[in-house]
Amino acid sequence: MEISKGQGFETSEIAAFASRASFSGVPATTIDKLGDADVVIVGAPFDWGTSHRPGARFGPKAIRDVGYLGFDGSRPHLPTGIDSLAELGVVDIGDLNLPPGYMDESLDRITEAVRTIADAGKVPLVLGGDHTITYSNGRALAAVHGDFALIHFDAHADTGAGTLGGMPHSHGTPMRKLIEEGHVAGKRFVQIGLRGYWPEPETVAWMAEQGMRSYLMTDITERGLNEVVNEAVAYATDGVDKAFLSIDIDVVDPGMAPGTGTPEPGGLLPRELMDTVRRLAKDLNVIGADVVEVSPPYDGPGEVTALLANRVVLEILNGMALRKLE
Ligand code: MN
Ligand code: MN
Repeated sequence: MEISKGQGFETSEIAAFASRASFSGVPATTIDKLGDADVVIVGAPFDWGTSHRPGARFGPKAIRDVGYLGFDGSRPHLPTGIDSLAELGVVDIGDLNLPPGYMDESLDRITEAVRTIADAGKVPLVLGGDHTITYSNGRALAAVHGDFALIHFDAHADTGAGTLGGMPHSHGTPMRKLIEEGHVAGKRFVQIGLRGYWPEPETVAWMAEQGMRSYLMTDITERGLNEVVNEAVAYATDGVDKAFLSIDIDVVDPGMAPGTGTPEPGGLLPRELMDTVRRLAKDLNVIGADVVEVSPPYDGPGEVTALLANRVVLEILNGMALRKLE
């Protein structure tokens, strides 16, 4: 049977329930054919840096597949009134080929891809993967952009000295490695949402010595999220206009984001994270972003964590689109 015009079918390229070859149906391409895109989505299916629950290697696939929206320029976001995928050029180059268990080789391949995207003048948006990959992303962006602020949302500081199971790299170390190797200055680091029982006092002292600023969930409860974020961002962006957003999905409360490697109760609400990243992506010159630590095997009913990550990516894109239109 031929589908006739006028039934609404002709406006959608893909059914809501079909498998996704790209994030939200944006053009799928390869790293050597980025065209005039503004933003390049790339998956880093990697979880060999996890200390507890694995599974983040399935994150990029879940974040893409859970989406059910099609974007053809006629589905504006209610809060902003724009369809970010119509305003921004966004492409998806799929998932990188990362050899399981080969830490250095995997991190090098991620660095090379992110550097290639940034060198082409585009913004890499990396779907993790565990948080180890932010070492690669930060290292690549530093090579291309030099100085930038790193705005880090997480329950954890990820500033471990690298003794986790004897591994120099893990999802507990990327922020420390970026500072120790000179890619990102300590004073450019702000962390939002920390809580729980890690790191230990020696590491907290090391962080303060570097000029890092960390804001706990208790600070957010006492002072309000917007005030804390404004102070953090003003500190990290003093004298620099570029920013990298690194979002560990475990910054959100595990009641609403259970599908993650190291859940810690007492986090942000999904709405708070979504509104905040959209605001920052509008206000700052975002040169890169990653959304990490989605572990689908531990996700709750309804794939709530993958869906949240999907929407966090869209909020970042909405903020970037608003900035472009200004
Ligand atoms: Mn993390
Ligand atoms: Mn974390």
